[in-house]
Amino acid sequence: MNNRIYLDYNATTPCDQRVLDYMMPFFCENFGNPSSAHHSYGWLAKDYITDSSSVIARTLGISVDDIIYTSGATESINMILKSFSSKFELGGNHIITCKTEHKAVLDTCDFLERYEGVSMTYLDVQANGMIDLEQLKQAIRPETILVSIMHSNNETGIIQPLKKIREIIKGKGIYLFSDATQSLGKIDLEDVFSTVDFACFSAHKLYGPKGIGLVYVKNRSDSQIIRNFIQGGGQQKKIRGGTLNTPAIAGFSKAIEISYADLKKEGQHFIDMRNQLESGLLEIEESYSNSRTTERLPNTLNISFAYVDGFKLLSALSKSMAVSNGSACNSANENPSHVLLAMGLERNMAFSSIRFSLGRFTKESDIDKIIGIVGQEVAKQRSNNILWERRSL
Ligand code: PLP
Repeated sequence: MNNRIYLDYNATTPCDQRVLDYMMPFFCENFGNPSSAHHSYGWLAKDYITDSSSVIARTLGISVDDIIYTSGATESINMILKSFSSKFELGGNHIITCKTEHKAVLDTCDFLERYEGVSMTYLDVQANGMIDLEQLKQAIRPETILVSIMHSNNETGIIQPLKKIREIIKGKGIYLFSDATQSLGKIDLEDVFSTVDFACFSAHKLYGPKGIGLVYVKNRSDSQIIRNFIQGGGQQKKIRGGTLNTPAIAGFSKAIEISYADLKKEGQHFIDMRNQLESGLLEIEESYSNSRTTERLPNTLNISFAYVDGFKLLSALSKSMAVSNGSACNSANENPSHVLLAMGLERNMAFSSIRFSLGRFTKESDIDKIIGIVGQEVAKQRSNNILWERRSL
């Protein structure tokens, strides 16, 4: 039994028991292939997919036709960005994104630039993590076809101003994509769906199963941008061939339904716990918050502890809790967080940073304990650091 306090909900979440219970009948009883058109097993499975899609669409205020199921956010990002390859003659080959995006976006953009003839601009961010809207205006060229800016950042929780971005690109024939993976289930997404042309999501970030995600395409029936991404079988209107994952789609719909049923109550609870954790951790000498804007996720906190080696701190903390130094996909990487570097932190400060992400099963009664353990470990690390002793000499 793992009794460490789990504070890495932005990496992944445990499946909610209610989600798992809802999924179970789709493995052994209602196991049909939704593409089987000639018997009741297939018809039933197809009906369940239709019902799940309706629940997702109704809960999020979108249309069933706007949904394409994928294996998760990384695949969704690949699907969207690769549709903007210069091979497709979209009237230009220039994409604008931002230096603090998730690696799933940055690495796909790098691929497009190297092999697909796409020209990329990577916007800087300001010290608070927000993009500079003036720089965005300057970056737009006649051949710009897409702006890809994430909604909320997975490391800091900072939320980008999508409405203002939309205002800037309005009337210029530029599409807007937002990686909103971290926002789903944590905040209201009205701003996202009323603003973007494309967005992506993943069930395992909101207590659903791993291996299922979706691409949102506004007015998909009118949009010719997302084309055949995976060939074979013709499923999902030939965009992504392959048997639909009925249990996972059912689980995804249940996870979304549960999260949004309690959003207001849960959201305020997270804000209260996060604020308590934040003010406690900031009482540790020479600790600094990297999540300083008012527009941020309710559950996420990123703190730098000066004169501390973040890797050593993580290793010491791992005996009692699960936290991280940024994205799980990047955690084996020995470089400091690209997000914090882009925000202007010195390498050693970026190295000394820890992300705390709270979730549905975080206990309020654990917050003071967490603050105490982190405080002790930070003090221990510093007691071995000569620079700490000499800092005020
Ligand atoms: N985008 C963001 C902002 C994320 O936080 C993640 C997961 O860490 C991803 C994309 C990739 O999601 P998935 O694990 O579903 O591929």
